[in-house]
Amino acid sequence: MTDTRSGLSALEARLAKDLTLLELPSKSWVPAQDHDGQRVRDVIFVGAGMCGLAGAARLKLSGVDNIVLYDAAPKGLEGPWDTFARMKTLRSPKTLAGPCLGLPALTFRAWYEAQWGEDAFDALGKIPKGMWMDYLRWYRDVLDLPVINETRVSDVQDAGGNLIAVTLTDAAGTRTEYCRHLVLATGRSGLGGGAVPGFLSDVDRRFWAHSADDIDFAALKDKRVIVIGAGASAMDNAATALEAGAAQLDMLIRRKEMPRVNKMTGIGSQGVVHGMRYLPDAWKYRFNDYVNSQQVPPPRSSTLRVTEHPNARTFLGCPVEDVQEAGDHIVVKTPYADFESDFVIAATGFRNDFTGRNEFSAFAPYIKTWKDGVYDASMGKPIPFMTDAPYLGDAYEFLEKEPGSCPMLARIHCFNDAAMLSHGKLSGDIPAISAGADRLMRGIVAEMFSADVETHYQGLQAYNVPELQGDEWVDSTPTLMETAK
Ligand SMILES: Cc1cc2nc3c(=O)[nH]c(=O)nc-3n(C[C@H](O)[C@H](O)[C@H](O)COP(=O)(O)OP(=O)(O)OC[C@H]3O[C@@H](n4cnc5c(N)ncnc54)[C@H](O)[C@@H]3O)c2cc1C
Repeated sequence: MTDTRSGLSALEARLAKDLTLLELPSKSWVPAQDHDGQRVRDVIFVGAGMCGLAGAARLKLSGVDNIVLYDAAPKGLEGPWDTFARMKTLRSPKTLAGPCLGLPALTFRAWYEAQWGEDAFDALGKIPKGMWMDYLRWYRDVLDLPVINETRVSDVQDAGGNLIAVTLTDAAGTRTEYCRHLVLATGRSGLGGGAVPGFLSDVDRRFWAHSADDIDFAALKDKRVIVIGAGASAMDNAATALEAGAAQLDMLIRRKEMPRVNKMTGIGSQGVVHGMRYLPDAWKYRFNDYVNSQQVPPPRSSTLRVTEHPNARTFLGCPVEDVQEAGDHIVVKTPYADFESDFVIAATGFRNDFTGRNEFSAFAPYIKTWKDGVYDASMGKPIPFMTDAPYLGDAYEFLEKEPGSCPMLARIHCFNDAAMLSHGKLSGDIPAISAGADRLMRGIVAEMFSADVETHYQGLQAYNVPELQGDEWVDSTPTLMETAK
């Protein structure tokens, strides 16, 4: 049996040495602040999934260490991987450096090879999703990131004095903490939640679910199931229903052709990672509009996982027009036929508005979005997912729709998928997350340094540890004066 623990211990020692060589973490440098009898946190993260962990790690390495991450999920169950992700493997290639922040010993590959060896890594196909979650658990532990689980951020208010009051709710009740910066690392449903088509809104919940819901697949055994959509999640949910014994699985897909080419992956480069942010808004919109119109194809393996079942059918060019309850089942209406079904899974993506996110209701109405004077028809089609997206500043901070209406927005950072239109894909997917975390860190560090500039200047003046003792030289000027006499 492979001794995975000793391999991992050796890797951890290597990481510790690398950090020492780089003099990381940097010394703590942010002045302490108190408010209402409590120490103010420099940064609070809402969410401890991959983005929260990477962002927090980057700040900690930069000497911003008075931080905390709150996550509503139980420890080790943050994000989709061991919850609603229903694929068997990641969609990304195994070689991505991901959230390693430039530290080779912090990559998935190093973690894997330390336990199972290089040959095993070569033989590995794609990364099993549970294994990716194991890696994230190790990442959190080895960097000693301060995550507090089973705690929901339930409200956010301006506390005055450039501080933000964050209400936390856990099993013990409700309490308030204060921070200077708040990072919303809240995931793919970052701001809104699942995008549910209007025709489902009046249908009883026992007949349908969004693909990111907690679905009881065992209950779908021998049932007729319809999946709406053609993306990766549509396939993963369809396959899971089939594997759970669904009697019939019909995929209803609006578009006439399956998307086949993953366009953005094709042009992936450091140019895209670092350059997209600095393009004119019209170009950003144009890129996203094109990708949206072309759609991202589901992985081949996920698609075959569905179509290998003889009781799976794919209907292209078959949009759902309505869903009606009919006693113990539903009728799903399309232009070509009415489908009798027991359950519908809407794999219809996510929204970028704040509906249903009560925890953000104090500031949501004040956020400037792309439809607030940025988007115009010359940029492309007005797609709600994009026009509703926040129009963000350089450090992912929200901007105000009306200047002066909600000053705390300047210190609330939208470090999740909703930032894509403003920043490119740096705060959601694995490939560029380290670059995203770096950008977040630079913005927060710059703001905090300048906000405390007087304290830092006083520190400069007060610093009096001598470099020289006074015995290193002799002033020869007096001898010149003697000669001049
Ligand atoms: C099914 C699925 C498969 C994916 N596969 C891939 C892939 O193969 N490759 C790739 O590059 N990307 C993939 N992604 C995209 C991306 O990598 C993941 O979404 C990833 O989890 C993003 O990390 P995150 O930290 O932004 O969000 P998450 O991992 O979703 O973490 C967000 C966390 O925020 C917490 N939270 C939210 N609101 C609150 C609150 N009010 N209080 C406290 N906690 C809160 C949640 O509990 C959650 O744990 C996938 C996404 C999904 C949904």
